[in-house]
Amino acid sequence: MQIAENLVGFIHYTLKNEEGEVLDSSQGQEPLPFVCGANNIVPGLEKALIGKTVGDKLDVVVTPEEGYGDVREELVQNVDRANFQGIDDIQVGMQFMAEAPWGQQPVTVIAIEEDSVVLDGNHPLAGQTLTFSVEVTNVREATEEELSHGHVHESGESCCDSGDSCCD
Ligand code: ZN
Repeated sequence: MQIAENLVGFIHYTLKNEEGEVLDSSQGQEPLPFVCGANNIVPGLEKALIGKTVGDKLDVVVTPEEGYGDVREELVQNVDRANFQGIDDIQVGMQFMAEAPWGQQPVTVIAIEEDSVVLDGNHPLAGQTLTFSVEVTNVREATEEELSHGHVHESGESCCDSGDSCCD
């Protein structure tokens, strides 16, 4: 079976930046499952995986346009420290969920100033050209529930049984 829209693919991957540093990897973990066509993985990687089958290995170079987008200055904001009451120890690198006009937005603390905290709502990989070294480990049909939810339910059972947050 070849990876195609509305099927579930499983990949082992190693993600590197332009300097060749390993940023993330599935080695030592379960392969990453994704519903093809449901935006579970970045578009550039998904496009390269269509038509691939179990055992195929490939290196995929993904530009920001087909990856995590460009860095957007307007997503970097200076927030008054008073907004962080109850958090004793704010440190660079901490992540929070913030309310944005379009919903919940993960933000990272990138600097701490005397009266304010600088938050960055860009994806940590925004603006980067990335290389994914991937190996396809499995391809299977998606269940109707997976297609309607737009994500994989581990081992294919009902999401309520598997404890996925989609049933909350
Ligand atoms: Zn679900």
